Amino acid sequence: MFGSEVIDFVVDEGLQIYGGMGFSAEAPMERSYRDARINRIFEGTNEINRMLTVDMILKKGMKGEIDLMGPAQKVAGELLSIPEMEDAGEGVFANERRYIRNFKKAGLMVAGAAVQKLMATLSKEQEILMNIADILIGIYTAESALLRAEKLISLRGEEACSLQIDMVKTYFNDMADNINKFGKDAITSFAEGDELRAMLMGLKRFTKTEPFNHKEARKRIAALVIEENKYPF
Ligand SMILES: Cc1cc2nc3c(=O)[nH]c(=O)nc-3n(C[C@H](O)[C@H](O)[C@H](O)COP(=O)(O)OP(=O)(O)OC[C@H]3O[C@@H](n4cnc5c(N)ncnc54)[C@H](O)[C@@H]3O)c2cc1C
Repeated sequence: MFGSEVIDFVVDEGLQIYGGMGFSAEAPMERSYRDARINRIFEGTNEINRMLTVDMILKKGMKGEIDLMGPAQKVAGELLSIPEMEDAGEGVFANERRYIRNFKKAGLMVAGAAVQKLMATLSKEQEILMNIADILIGIYTAESALLRAEKLISLRGEEACSLQIDMVKTYFNDMADNINKFGKDAITSFAEGDELRAMLMGLKRFTKTEPFNHKEARKRIAALVIEENKYPF
């Protein structure tokens, strides 16, 4: 599902690079543009798959196959306490390891509160399910990128992986804001008053990142792609 949206973004940008010619069947992008589009429809549309993702996880939680409410309640408890100073960690991804822990807390807080508040009607609240699915997608893809980059660093060393490091940091920077937005959309749909304010503050805390110069990082990534004139990663 995530890949089907990334490829649509990529072919759309590809078409744009060709300008007016991109719109024409004479340029190579129009075939890719048409071919890519079906991925958001077959094998289940992305709307349905988003809802299924959350539904399946919640069902596993209810059957006791995974513990969702325990960790969710722990995060809810954390909201009421004074934030502890977190261990700063070490290494090039010290921040990102902390961010991913916090993104998971944001996800647990939003999903846990939605389950508690809406109970059986949650399965009919499609917009909220989609918000939760988008948070889960963000967490999963950010953590996957981080783990993959860490593996590459362990094989090739940090210097040889500077671009992968840029890519992970850029992605986390984007994802923190995205998770904040999806979370805000979800909780403002079912909470109000003090409870809403507490959760919005929690969301802010769990999606907080250090300032990051994404423009320069994106330029370094683009420079390599332009230099190699092919997919270089
Ligand atoms: C090229 C191609 C190949 C295919 N190959 C196969 C195949 O090999 N085997 C097979 O079984 N099927 C196949 N399909 C069918 C495909 O799986 C369906 O087209 C797809 O599941 C969507 O169903 P639908 O077309 O009936 O759209 P609908 O179910 O009518 O959906 C229409 C739109 O409404 C949205 N929507 C529907 N319900 C909701 C909801 N509750 N909330 C929010 N949005 C909603 C959908 O996301 C979609 O955007 C193929 C389709 C195509 C185009």
